[in-house]
Amino acid sequence: MARERHPTNPEKGAEGVIADIIACVTDCMADLEHEGQALGIGVAGQVEASTGIVKYGTNLGWRDVPLKSELEKALGIPVVVTNDVRAALWGEWRHGAGKGVDDLVVLFVGTGIGGGVVSGGQVVEGCTNTAGELGHTTIVVDGRKCHCPNHGCLEAYAGGWAIAERAQEAIRTDPQAGQILIERAGSIKSIKIKCLS
Ligand SMILES: [Zn+2]
Repeated sequence: MARERHPTNPEKGAEGVIADIIACVTDCMADLEHEGQALGIGVAGQVEASTGIVKYGTNLGWRDVPLKSELEKALGIPVVVTNDVRAALWGEWRHGAGKGVDDLVVLFVGTGIGGGVVSGGQVVEGCTNTAGELGHTTIVVDGRKCHCPNHGCLEAYAGGWAIAERAQEAIRTDPQAGQILIERAGSIKSIKIKCLS
């Protein structure tokens, strides 16, 4: 119906990012044939379902940001806020690979590993609305340190940041074998997942 694409600039702080979202949505609304009735938004973080407050957004640096109420105030339409992977889960379930099924697990592999679960025709939410975070399943007891408080998570081995970290460690042990990657990245500590793909 309409499409706008903007980078997220967390360094602007929550207020700056929210202002960018409002500008983006307003532009999109102007392109619509019919007036927009509501807004659904997926955000990288832990969202309190009842209030639409982003309790904790690691990569955004957010804590207790009232995203739903700020957007409703500015846009004058109902807003639903959910976690970004949860939003993608809904998308796959309603319109994508999981259409028509009652039980579904999705994994989104990127910098981290996000996950979501539909069971018996219901999205599994859990008491803190974070159920289905399969990237933080322990696969190695007392294993590698994760970005979450635990050790040995799936994400700590197979997430983008973890693969880069493991490559850096391996190359520190054997710089000769990693010469091409060092050249490509500039230095060992600059080796990111992009250099490895
Ligand atoms: Zn973890």
